[in-house]
Amino acid sequence: MPAVPKKKTSHSKQGRRRTNLKLKLATLVPCPHCHQLRPDHHVCPTCGYYNGREVIDVGVKDRKRLERDQRNQQGR
Ligand SMILES: [Zn+2]
Repeated sequence: MPAVPKKKTSHSKQGRRRTNLKLKLATLVPCPHCHQLRPDHHVCPTCGYYNGREVIDVGVKDRKRLERDQRNQQGR
């Protein structure tokens, strides 16, 4: 005979256990290169930089947007 629970788990106990089964919001930090918010410990999706160097090419269209965003930030 296999291991069997001695008692039925009550709805209250089941609910308390499932309190911790929830999704959390990703931690967003400002990118040190372009200052846009990016997920922590991830390559920046806006400028493609990670750890001070360009890791991925995000394309000319996005680079133009990045330059415009940086100009707008300097203007403030
Ligand atoms: Zn960036």
